[in-house]
Amino acid sequence: MPLDDILARIRRAEQDAGRAGGSVTLIAVSKVQPLPRVEAVLEQGQRVFGENYVQEAAGKWPALRERFGKVELHMIGPLQTNKAKVAVDLFDAIHTLDRPSLAEKLARLADTRGTCPELFVQVNTGEEPQKAGVLPADTDAFIATCRSLGLPLAGLMCIPPEGEDSAPHFAMLSGIAARNGLAGLSMGMSADFEVAIAHGATHVRVGSAIFGARDYG
Ligand SMILES: *Cc1c(COP(=O)(O)O)cnc(C)c1O
Repeated sequence: MPLDDILARIRRAEQDAGRAGGSVTLIAVSKVQPLPRVEAVLEQGQRVFGENYVQEAAGKWPALRERFGKVELHMIGPLQTNKAKVAVDLFDAIHTLDRPSLAEKLARLADTRGTCPELFVQVNTGEEPQKAGVLPADTDAFIATCRSLGLPLAGLMCIPPEGEDSAPHFAMLSGIAARNGLAGLSMGMSADFEVAIAHGATHVRVGSAIFGARDYG
């Protein structure tokens, strides 16, 4: 679906939810997509992108930033602690902060660099064993840990279980954010971004609806 159609659907969902126009940021998720598709979306003016793999992003974005100017990059995949340094050099935001060892590493990097990407704590709202993220019951304590380390928390992120209604998961994430005084809500993908906006999403992560299906070959 063309970028303009996705943007129009986002603006309509903002309006339907009684929210200000432009209060939702579209993150175009370009992981694994062929370069020409990414270039086409850059040419249409999109400047906020999401990637899942540090190595793939590091191989792709420095050259694209040279050509297209300022691009805001969001890390939305699991982040290994030993890749944290490369990640903070490349990304403007990290949506997958999910454990104390990573929080401590990011805090050390922030101290030496004097800056830190915007951080979202990933919450495993479906309590799925194979999925990353802090369990809902542990989230308040983890947020407190991050704050005691001086980390700049922007908000929370979740990926609801596949094949389930996303709405209760979005509502849960919104509730945890509200009671912790966090404004950012990274939730909603191609199949459910309008539902996420109705529940207060500030960042929607949309891949295949913009770029077409991913071919993992
Ligand atoms: C791949 C991915 C997306 C985009 O998914 P689509 O269904 O293609 O929109 C969003 N968020 C995360 C965390 C992802 O890994």
